Amino acid sequence: MELNKILGISDALNASSSKQPKKSKIWLSSPHMGGTEMKYIKQAFDTNWIAPLGENINEFENEIKNHLGSQNEVACLSSGTAALHLSLILAGVKDNDEVLCQTFTFSATINPIIYQRAIPIFIDSELDTWGMSPVYLEKAIKERIALGKKPKAIVVVHLYGMPVKIEEISKIAKAYDIVLIEDAAAAIGSSYKGQKCGTFGDFGIISFNGNKVITTSGGGALICKNKEVKERAIFLATQARDNAPHYQHSNIGYNYRLSNILAGIGRGQMEVLDSHIAKRRANHKFYKALLTDIKEVNLFKEPNENYFSNHWLSVILIKENTNFNRKELRAHLDEENIESRSLWKPMHIQPIFNSYPYYGKNIAETLFNNGLCLPSGSNLLEEDKRRISNKLKQYFITSY
Ligand SMILES: *Cc1c(COP(=O)(O)O)cnc(C)c1O
Repeated sequence: MELNKILGISDALNASSSKQPKKSKIWLSSPHMGGTEMKYIKQAFDTNWIAPLGENINEFENEIKNHLGSQNEVACLSSGTAALHLSLILAGVKDNDEVLCQTFTFSATINPIIYQRAIPIFIDSELDTWGMSPVYLEKAIKERIALGKKPKAIVVVHLYGMPVKIEEISKIAKAYDIVLIEDAAAAIGSSYKGQKCGTFGDFGIISFNGNKVITTSGGGALICKNKEVKERAIFLATQARDNAPHYQHSNIGYNYRLSNILAGIGRGQMEVLDSHIAKRRANHKFYKALLTDIKEVNLFKEPNENYFSNHWLSVILIKENTNFNRKELRAHLDEENIESRSLWKPMHIQPIFNSYPYYGKNIAETLFNNGLCLPSGSNLLEEDKRRISNKLKQYFITSY
């Protein structure tokens, strides 16, 4: 009992699980190997490139570059967060600079702004893409400039794989000459008018964390516009050693490069990227068909044909003033050992960030209060879908 308390396992949970064996867990989004990953890992071992450099890294970078299909350079790093941090440094963000950022996101989008001792200025979402509202973005820029300080950078997030209103936002960034950074952590393969997410801004970042569309267990990539910037990123990511015969340093460096072993996993995963995306999009179709007759629920979907989402996660909104709510539904799915999760709690209402300025009208809060992420892995089985379908119908139809 003591151990359970330390581990945070409640007695109630323990009691219910001891009555009957739980069914196998259906995860929200779990790693899904393609099959050739071990071959590339073995190559790293066979050649003894057990290091943060080697052929797997070079090839993984080339494959991502080819996937992006436009004039971009790619540097593989230890995480998406590291990529965000370096992009802020490369954008020149320093102490007390203001950075306009989306409030509706994961904390990793914002933490690097604080690493730079800069000030996040939170911008609300809009209802088409759930991403940054161009209207509030421009309002904030005008007001910050009027207050005597021009923001240094804009960080937008392609949420749950959905492209933000990147055309409008790019236009605003250009008009005011502010660096644009795209957090495409979960949006590999997503595109707007055929152009890949992560390639619109001055910088883009991708994550290969275990829960993303493809994974290296942990890892990330920085997308930038030319070789000089890529070289600079790698310089900073490898302890910022000056070109000298001894250890000489004129900059603060970081240990942010990806391991050659993990890059081997990435090479294997690139071979299945398209099929993983097709499966996630098929999951979305499954939910669409399932929920079409349930009028209390809206499935998060592409606003029009210009948007192509990898549907990293399929997300529903439960309408307000109905008999249903996301907390109850989450508990209901948990009875069947089906994982679901609430949406990001907006950053401007997080205890650690709530003292920073915010522009908007509580769209992100409304989404947070009513949304739920449903199991969306590319490895969902038909049997899993049957269990999910039964349980969702039970909640929305039987209990109706
Ligand atoms: C996963 C994620 C990150 C962080 O990426 P890591 O590779 O885990 O550091 C940042 N932003 C968003 C939106 C994410 O989903």
